[in-house]
Amino acid sequence: MSYVQEVLEKAVKRNPGEVEFHQAVKEVLDTLAPVFEKHPEYVEAGILDRIVEPERQLMFRVPWVDDQGKVQVNRGFRVQFNSAIGPYKGGLRFHPSVYLGIIKFLGFEQIFKNSLTGLPIGGGKGGSDFDPKGKSDAEVMRFCQSFMTELYRHIGADADVPAGDIGVGGREVGYLFGQYKRITNLYEGVLTGKGLTFGGSLTRTEATGYGLVYFMDEAIKAQGKSFNGATVVISGSGNVAIYAAEKAQQLGAKVVTMSDSNGYIYDADGIKLDTIKQLKEVERKRIKAYVEIHPNAKYHEGCAGVWTVPCDIALPCATQNELDGKAAETLLANGCFAVGEGANMPSTPEAVDLFLNKKIIYAPGKASNAGGVAVSALEMSQNSMRYSWTFEEVDAKLKNIMVNIYNNASHAAKEYGFEGNLVAGANIAGFLKVAEAMKAQGI
Ligand code: GLU
Repeated sequence: MSYVQEVLEKAVKRNPGEVEFHQAVKEVLDTLAPVFEKHPEYVEAGILDRIVEPERQLMFRVPWVDDQGKVQVNRGFRVQFNSAIGPYKGGLRFHPSVYLGIIKFLGFEQIFKNSLTGLPIGGGKGGSDFDPKGKSDAEVMRFCQSFMTELYRHIGADADVPAGDIGVGGREVGYLFGQYKRITNLYEGVLTGKGLTFGGSLTRTEATGYGLVYFMDEAIKAQGKSFNGATVVISGSGNVAIYAAEKAQQLGAKVVTMSDSNGYIYDADGIKLDTIKQLKEVERKRIKAYVEIHPNAKYHEGCAGVWTVPCDIALPCATQNELDGKAAETLLANGCFAVGEGANMPSTPEAVDLFLNKKIIYAPGKASNAGGVAVSALEMSQNSMRYSWTFEEVDAKLKNIMVNIYNNASHAAKEYGFEGNLVAGANIAGFLKVAEAMKAQGI
């Protein structure tokens, strides 16, 4: 059995039942064999055995009181996966599906993603099985305060810097930051994605979506194609989806779908983003409400149907494993030539295999959605300097970072015999920097 295979089997055995984590580890390890042929010193230093094991995993009780006065208990997580190249960095996810296996898959991905940004940030992730859906503002606040009452002792501006992910947006980050400050008496960049009045960075809200489109634009241009005039299918209607749609529209594309966990909307004339922003960011409504305002658009139950809509470019921006082998077949049969992931691991392994075999442009999330965490790192820089850059300054840096990630992943793929395969390229380029730092720092 090869070294890589051995490490994979050990990781699976050691983490029983954590299927998403197994999937993420396998996807990375499957592409690393040529790296160890070229760098036997990384085998000697046990880099792979070490990188699949989090440095620290925290699990804690989060008790809070609901609006009826009843005590509720959720479970909180923070996985501090790898600090070789910087303080742990990665979002918090609040969703009922959250358990250790989800946080570990996200934390593992974050190591490589953060490395790809070229900025000094390690990998981490956290969250809770708390469901913010249907909760009042006061309940969300009490939950966030209780969550931080435990988490504060494990994080810090130079130790571990959480941010948002699914279910954690500006409102939650605000409540979390307030509680950290109250307990510690420190006004520091301990969280990113903060409001603009208390240390947030311009362009952070837009960063993941804009970054995805900057990345895809580069990949698509390399094949002589363009967003201009293209039909784009987007899943999701959160922060990533909204700003991916906005940038795609700015580049002349027509975005025809968006979705939530109940269903999707199809607007043949192009999605009106002002409506989506009002519904999702202000009123916190379901996507179905869009068709009441724009009766020409259609609402369909079931979010997976979004992949049956013919398109040139598909941008999955909802959640893990939302695009399976069958959906991938349908997309390809309908002429889709590029898939760019705004979510983390939205394509199943069967879908990824199909995209790679058919040689369409396929960008894995850890490369194409790195814009969010990249601007988070820029927020950390601005907080350290007690300074803030303009929207244009941050946007220009973001664009530059995304173009560099594309170039580095493409070059690494070519150098290690995977030409055109951005999955292998992203894994290898992300891995090399972390491996070198781990080796240099000893065991
Ligand atoms: N949750 C985002 C991600 O998956 C952003 C993390 C961050 O900004 O720290 O990369």
